[in-house]
Amino acid sequence: MAVHERKLTSREVETALAAEGASVSAGPPLIETGGILTVDLDAIVANWRNLAERVSPADCAAVVKADAYGCGLRQVAAALAKGGCETFFVAHIHEARIVRASAPDAVIYVLNGFPPGGASYFATSRLRPVIGSLAELVEWDAFCSVHGWTEGAAFHFDTGMSRLGLAIDEAPALSARLKTPGHGIALIMSHFACADTPEHPLNARQIQLFRELRMMFRGVAASLANSPGIFLGTAAHCDLVRPGVALYGVNPTPGSPNPMQPVVSLKGRLVQVRKVARGASVGYGATWTAPKDSRIAIVAVGYGDGHLCATAQPSGAHAIVAGTRCPIVGRVSMDLIAVDVTAVPEKSTRRGDFATLLGDGIGVDDLAAWSGMIGYEVLTGLGTRHHRVWTSSSQQS
Ligand SMILES: *Cc1c(COP(=O)(O)O)cnc(C)c1O
Repeated sequence: MAVHERKLTSREVETALAAEGASVSAGPPLIETGGILTVDLDAIVANWRNLAERVSPADCAAVVKADAYGCGLRQVAAALAKGGCETFFVAHIHEARIVRASAPDAVIYVLNGFPPGGASYFATSRLRPVIGSLAELVEWDAFCSVHGWTEGAAFHFDTGMSRLGLAIDEAPALSARLKTPGHGIALIMSHFACADTPEHPLNARQIQLFRELRMMFRGVAASLANSPGIFLGTAAHCDLVRPGVALYGVNPTPGSPNPMQPVVSLKGRLVQVRKVARGASVGYGATWTAPKDSRIAIVAVGYGDGHLCATAQPSGAHAIVAGTRCPIVGRVSMDLIAVDVTAVPEKSTRRGDFATLLGDGIGVDDLAAWSGMIGYEVLTGLGTRHHRVWTSSSQQS
């Protein structure tokens, strides 16, 4: 270990030490891999509080599916639970069990419900399924009556997304259950199809349909809004909102300034810096040709790390090297990208230095725009190859 440490460049050590104010790290050690991914847990909690204040007196849950959008489920759930979040949504039972370990008292909903035979897992970890079809409901009811299980479930109604959810036509019959004590309906919910396009007519239609549902299910808590849905106004807030992506720093109000704090930063190591003569091409497909004698830094992060996409000829894409914005040139390789560092003094671009690929003003939304992705894809594609650090002012377990 000590031998490896001596091989670190001073800048690399600096980065690692700065990260040490940091509480937890995971993934390969920095020396053994190409990049360092830092997740600011305080920023996630601040973003959750920001949204919680916006929607008060409605409650604010946290959606932490897909490894908390690539940010680390265990760490994120623990930080949010400590920060005051009492309700979590995940996609799968396995994710819910990880949240349960971090947040013993939380209410945990599983958005994808359960496969045939899966009902008992909800009792084992005190989880709640989100029931999205009659077949699922029949199996759930049978499980609950056989085992006397009373923790409850969410009923998801489809108001226009046509993905998961019970049909609205079923609502009147299902609402008759409310007359039975212990009816087990803990929440009714629906999901916006177009919340990130506020002027889309489907939003108003979904809000109206959901309002009618709420009248049928009086006394039951109701939840409609995801991150951008929160910004459609109070009519969308109901009793509980379910933000995901905004917690992780993606702009929930496309076209307007981002009200959320950035959460994720990614730095990639300079493997080498090479001189490229005017007229020479760089990378697969020879899609970029040096317009003048140039210096090109080869950085150890590529599409195999979820960074940009393979075929992108990213226009406007840049990295920050020694405080300077430098264009990413040519196609992205699986494990490498090329950055034109001609504008940076040679002594500031040494082998082993780091380029900032995300953070310091480069947002998840920027990266998404450069490669024709959405912020959700950038985050969930961050992968597990990087050395990972979670920073927090308070110690995490
Ligand atoms: C993923 C998801 C959310 C969170 O959506 P964001 O746009 O990330 O805020 C909320 N509700 C449901 C049903 C979801 O599937």
